Amino acid sequence: MSGTGEPTIFERIAAGEIPARMVLETDRVIAFHDISPQAPVHVIVTPREGRHRDVVELAAADPELLAELVATAKRIADELTDGEFRLIFNTGPAAGQTVFHVHAHLLGGGLKEGSLA
Ligand code: ADP
Repeated sequence: MSGTGEPTIFERIAAGEIPARMVLETDRVIAFHDISPQAPVHVIVTPREGRHRDVVELAAADPELLAELVATAKRIADELTDGEFRLIFNTGPAAGQTVFHVHAHLLGGGLKEGSLA
């Protein structure tokens, strides 16, 4: 769980305390451009609430929220990319996870013509 201790940077973005280039917001999920993009489209998709450390915890605790997160990523990919994309959940420090509030990296190689990404 990530509910104890200092809020993570993504929880602070969700709370409006730190600015981000928002792409889409729903009641339970927010999405914003990664500050250090690794692909032409690189969007972070993450729950508003900071209770789940990684995707394994989220899948066990709230599978509906995980499904909403994936559906949100698909909506964004349809809008910003050619429709084909990677969805990555780094899980654990040895796998490169640095922010311990579950999030997906949506990476798209092909920019959709006319998109604002
Ligand atoms: P990694 O840093 O290895 O990608 P994570 O999977 O935990 O680890 O991803 C954290 C991501 O958050 C990084 O891609 C990083 O560029 C991004 N990031 C960090 N701070 C911000 C911020 N203020 N706004 C947008 N993206 C951010």
